[in-house]
Amino acid sequence: MGQMTVRFTSDEIDEAAKLIFQWLQESTSTVAFTGAGISTESGIPDFRSPGGVWEENEPVYYDDFMRYPESRYEYWRQKSEAHGDFTNAKPNCTHESLARWESHGRLRGIVTQNIDGLHQDAGSRNVLELHGTAREIACRDCDWQEPADAWVRFFVEHDQVPPCPDCGGRLKHATISFGQSLPRETLQTAIEWASESDLFFALGSSPGPAHT
Ligand SMILES: [Zn+2]
Repeated sequence: MGQMTVRFTSDEIDEAAKLIFQWLQESTSTVAFTGAGISTESGIPDFRSPGGVWEENEPVYYDDFMRYPESRYEYWRQKSEAHGDFTNAKPNCTHESLARWESHGRLRGIVTQNIDGLHQDAGSRNVLELHGTAREIACRDCDWQEPADAWVRFFVEHDQVPPCPDCGGRLKHATISFGQSLPRETLQTAIEWASESDLFFALGSSPGPAHT
């Protein structure tokens, strides 16, 4: 298979299905790379688009989060506001197609910039989350990690950033913030998958850096 770049938007995914099916049959290792564009249909706003969250909020940089209680409060305030979008979202036909390809043995896995967990909801198993997940809260000072819902509720009810129940440390969504480096092992695996693939899809991702 020669090198070729074809761009589809998520609206065109069904139209493109026949062509893609043919590629999938010829490929020995297929990897999909996904970005915010595939989740907008599921009600997850693309934070970089007009009306996106960064028009109204200054992002909290990781160093500030680690350093200042006020920054941690502002971070939790923003994350709690956005949390409803994540809990209400359901996978759409793009997530479902990719999950189907994987269950049929046609897709090695997904490398995603998305933090919404919708690939896993659709049934995908091999998902590399380059920017982490908004579904979990993790302690920055120990290994504690739990689903996000109860902790977001704690913040909303008490108007106070919850301390780590194990060590009293700094709790943060398990996502990669501005100024925080990408998870090394995940990135390394993603690079392996990409370099070993002979078919690579990029779906719903625009060029340029994206952060949560
Ligand atoms: Zn802790």
